[in-house]
Amino acid sequence: MALIVQKYGGTSVGDVARIKQVAARVAKYRQQGHQLVVVVSAMSGVTDGLIRLARDIMPLPSEREMDVLLATGEQTTIALTAIALHALDVPAVSLTGAQAGIVTDGVHTKAKIQNITPKKVHALLDGGNVVTVAGFQGQTPEGQVTTLGRGGSDLTAIALAAALRASLCQIYTDVDGIYTADPRIVPDARKLEEVSYDELLELAGAGAKVMQLRSVEFAKKFGVIFEVRSSLNDNPGTIVKEETKSMESVVIRGVSLDRNQAKVTLIAVPDRPGMAARVFKALADAAINIDTIVQNVSHGAAKPTTDLSFTLDKPDLLKARKVIDALKKEVGFREVVANEHIGKLSIVGVGMRSHSGVAAKMFETLAREDINIDMISTSEIKISVVLDLAKGDQAVRAVHAAFLG
Ligand code: ASP
Ligand code: MG
Repeated sequence: MALIVQKYGGTSVGDVARIKQVAARVAKYRQQGHQLVVVVSAMSGVTDGLIRLARDIMPLPSEREMDVLLATGEQTTIALTAIALHALDVPAVSLTGAQAGIVTDGVHTKAKIQNITPKKVHALLDGGNVVTVAGFQGQTPEGQVTTLGRGGSDLTAIALAAALRASLCQIYTDVDGIYTADPRIVPDARKLEEVSYDELLELAGAGAKVMQLRSVEFAKKFGVIFEVRSSLNDNPGTIVKEETKSMESVVIRGVSLDRNQAKVTLIAVPDRPGMAARVFKALADAAINIDTIVQNVSHGAAKPTTDLSFTLDKPDLLKARKVIDALKKEVGFREVVANEHIGKLSIVGVGMRSHSGVAAKMFETLAREDINIDMISTSEIKISVVLDLAKGDQAVRAVHAAFLG
């Protein structure tokens, strides 16, 4: 007998028929003698719909009230899932995040889990029940309802699996697992049998939207091994775990394209100590997240200047321009150029550490396709290039074929 935590995302509980399918799967596992904790998301579209309702009233609603509002989405699903289990004669009890003992800090709409005391969960499991738990929500020590940021049900599942010392954590979604590339762009992309936490973090950070980033960080920190798999079939999914030796024999694990970035270039920034500090401090103060930064060598002997480029999340571009324009006098650069039509293409793999020529092969592949590279950045296990978004799909296909074809 094992304790299994299963998490079902929005599409997996998208309507009553899907919820009945979830109940059937849970019942099957239970029949095999396992104990089950089932974390569910809101039915697909529900969270977005609730956000729309609030914004129709005012553009920036109170974050405390948003948490109270959004928590209702998951609360609907835990009850419906428990009812669907009852219909199959499976004893089941639903718990909100607070009832499940999930205690968070007080940062509304993006609260952090402080601790989990799953006493009630244990008691209900011991009583022979399946426990359905609302994802994405918790409670402050003072009893305020909080939510864990978009996609936060993943975090609930991983954190509960850690707190309960579950023997298995399964993340059910609408795809078969983690792929070598987005199958909608690359038809011969393959499902990975396994991927390391670090690789998945880099892939997710590079735009592959499979799981909430924070939940993967949490899993790595607490060593929670989990499987990403489909709720629509019985195919085995992708196992996510700490890196193993054999993983190094694969040079590149996956290719991804982030379409959600924009590029800003400050032209002719005076090359003096403190300039970059001033620019990025101002952006950080405005809570703008910066990704790739490239500064050129300076030119002009008498009054040296340099061009400074960086990328950021596209929705932050307007805010960033305001911040930068306000700095123009103080910093004294010549002009600002912004480009929204960029994509960031990344290749990721822990095997990169022990293989040479990976970057050269990537650049050669892009050259053969006549695709210009705008910016380059690298980490130990990732190489990213910024390029024209119009050539993004072509670039992903070519690079995938070169490394993984
Ligand atoms: N319902 C929340 C969202 O849509 C949490 C989740 O689905 O994981 O972001
Ligand atoms: Mg989700």
